[in-house]
Amino acid sequence: MALGERVYVALGSNVGDRAAHLAHARARLARLPATRLVRVSGVEETAPLGPVPQGPYLNQMVLLETTLEPGELLEHLHAIEAERGRVRKERWGPRTLDLDIVRYGDRAVRKPELTIPHPELPQRDFWLRELAELDTEPSPRG
Ligand code: ADP
Ligand code: MG
Repeated sequence: MALGERVYVALGSNVGDRAAHLAHARARLARLPATRLVRVSGVEETAPLGPVPQGPYLNQMVLLETTLEPGELLEHLHAIEAERGRVRKERWGPRTLDLDIVRYGDRAVRKPELTIPHPELPQRDFWLRELAELDTEPSPRG
């Protein structure tokens, strides 16, 4: 059943039990209303970006199909981040869980609180790799 837009969401964590934070996010995204979790990329460890000294990240990307509007999805993502004790201090700083909307079908959004496609996409090799992985059809025998 086709259900709405194809949406790519990036998961990142560099504080606490990083794998557990990503697992929680995957489970919650799979249970969002009007949403199906279609595929998940592999998990990749990456060095932190930006000016703040901090530990390495675990990253993953998931493909959703959803009829939620972008703003509604963003609210859900913030709620899931908060469930993992996410504290918003500084941009680019360490975080238990970061959930970013990378692409939302073919839509472009330019609002103060939401930019789609995510403006960092061209700079993040691991996001580009994960996108390519999700767009590759799995072989019939997996
Ligand atoms: P970072 O830019 O490091 O991910 P935060 O996770 O603290 O920083 O996000 C800061 C704000 O970025 C969020 O409150 C959200 O409103 C905004 N934002 C803008 N575009 C997006 C997007 N595509 N996905 C997620 N958040 C976004
Ligand atoms: Mg974010």
